[in-house]
Amino acid sequence: MDATTQQWSDTARRFAEETLIPWELEAEMNAGRLPEEVAKAHKAEAIRLGFSAMDVAPSYGGLGLRNVDQVAVWEQLGRVTNALCWCFSEPHQWMFEACSDDQLERYILPLMRGERKECYAITERESGSDVVIESTAERVAGGYRVSGEKWFVTSANLADYLFVQARLTDGAHAGEDVLLLVDSDAEGIEVLRTPPFSHTFDHHHQEIAFHDVFVPEQNLIGTEGGGMGYTHAWFRRERLMIAARNCGAAARLIEEATAFAKARAVDGGVLMDKQLVQAMLADSVTELWAARLMTFETAAAHDRGEDVKALHTRCSLAKLYASEAAGRIADRAVQIFGGRGYMRENCAERFTRELRVDRIWEGASELQRLIIARQLAKRGLDEM
Ligand SMILES: Cc1cc2nc3c(=O)[nH]c(=O)nc-3n(C[C@H](O)[C@H](O)[C@H](O)COP(=O)(O)OP(=O)(O)OC[C@H]3O[C@@H](n4cnc5c(N)ncnc54)[C@H](O)[C@@H]3O)c2cc1C
Repeated sequence: MDATTQQWSDTARRFAEETLIPWELEAEMNAGRLPEEVAKAHKAEAIRLGFSAMDVAPSYGGLGLRNVDQVAVWEQLGRVTNALCWCFSEPHQWMFEACSDDQLERYILPLMRGERKECYAITERESGSDVVIESTAERVAGGYRVSGEKWFVTSANLADYLFVQARLTDGAHAGEDVLLLVDSDAEGIEVLRTPPFSHTFDHHHQEIAFHDVFVPEQNLIGTEGGGMGYTHAWFRRERLMIAARNCGAAARLIEEATAFAKARAVDGGVLMDKQLVQAMLADSVTELWAARLMTFETAAAHDRGEDVKALHTRCSLAKLYASEAAGRIADRAVQIFGGRGYMRENCAERFTRELRVDRIWEGASELQRLIIARQLAKRGLDEM
């Protein structure tokens, strides 16, 4: 880690530990919610520290940080439970490649300033791992009419617009996908259900119906048929940052379990002296070390501008390994804490629930393995 990356890591660590972590229990005991003024203060501080501008080029008023610096920030924010680190939105580089100037002005740059909030509606009842979109976009005068049903739309309860993927029914690109910006208050949008999930987050994952929702043509991102290309760029970024957050979560789990093991008296000594416990912690540290190396090296490969297909595979490798390792580390931490590890006030208990979804969303572990194996078959190990 060079001095700049270390500085970003330290800044994010302080924000996580001094500002966010003290509010975890309040969130856990109140359905993920914090008092409004506290949530507002968290968001303002995250923006002041520059976190919402990390992936935005200076020409747009952002910081244009290297991927290693961004990974260092998200690693530290991953130490926090209850999604309190999701207190800000951030535009991503791919949006600047895909969106028009008008879209950047109305939808994307307001994310950086904390004025708007986005969510992503890709998954459907019958379309998860196999992204075969059934929601339709019919071309009409001045735009599109969108119909269909989206599932698991994270943060839809807090967002004021959605990125929606739909399949064109007509025109030269009939049958291909489009990605559209849709305002949450557009006529014809209906929240069908807000199901409860394992974790305790204020960000819900809603099921949303689109009944002939009119979307003006200036809200088409990129070109007709280009929808999936941008989604892939988004997957790469999210997979890498999930790996980073998993590393931060694992580090906190190891530190807290170690502190407990050193203090807990058992069998005439302390837990830390027991070799069975030592083995659990040693395995956890080893896995964290491997996950961090993979994650930071993948970020550095992005910064070096390496081949995009190789980067895609490495993001899958990092996400697969880090999410599975963090799950094992959380489970061992619960075991070390004993009964205390099963209490919701213990971060190991919360992480056990919260980290589980990292093996499912943004492509489940099985899908990451398929991506890796297909690239191995196509390109060979040296090109990965
Ligand atoms: C909390 C949460 C939040 C989410 N947020 C969003 C969001 O904001 N926006 C959005 O669009 N989506 C979101 N999702 C959806 C998420 O991306 C999907 O759940 C994920 O892609 C898996 O799809 P699925 O649930 O339909 O599982 P399925 O595709 O039905 O898969 C079920 C199981 O089968 C396995 N499987 C599938 N295909 C294969 C195969 N070929 N070989 C072997 N195994 C296979 C999968 O790995 C999985 O374990 C969210 C999901 C959750 C749980």
